[in-house]
Amino acid sequence: MAVLGIPVLEDKYPVTMDMWPIQCKEFNRVWPFYENLKQGKFTTTKCKGCGKVAYPPRVICPECYSEDLEYVDLPKKAKVVVFSEELKGVPLGYDSPLIHATIEFPAGSPFKTIVTKIINCPAGKLKEGDEVQFVVFPVAAHPIDIKGGIAMKERVFFAFEPVNK
Ligand SMILES: [Zn+2]
Repeated sequence: MAVLGIPVLEDKYPVTMDMWPIQCKEFNRVWPFYENLKQGKFTTTKCKGCGKVAYPPRVICPECYSEDLEYVDLPKKAKVVVFSEELKGVPLGYDSPLIHATIEFPAGSPFKTIVTKIINCPAGKLKEGDEVQFVVFPVAAHPIDIKGGIAMKERVFFAFEPVNK
């Protein structure tokens, strides 16, 4: 993303809730989450011992501390519960409007609510109760030093966008 007048931010990806920017399995124990994202799947971890579903994905169950976890699908559609929309003074490197929302998955889903970024939405258009859908997009590759060579690792991240754009 080009940021006018700020060359240092040229092509830099502003991280928002992307807590593990090094996504490959050599460096990241929740790498299956990113592999699933690359296939267009939205997943998180479920404990095989006690059944607890956690989001974001974990390496240890927050309920019983088991490490025996599996990845389960999350819904790709949800409803906006509440949101914030920043128009002016967004942090350096971000585009306006910068929208974050708490979204609620349909009844019967393995997880109830998450906080996510909302993209592809003009300022002033989003409303509480709006339906949003899952989107995966590429972000700048990350250089990784793996056994004798620097490799640029493809990366992806996700957000939600309004169903009715
Ligand atoms: Zn557990």
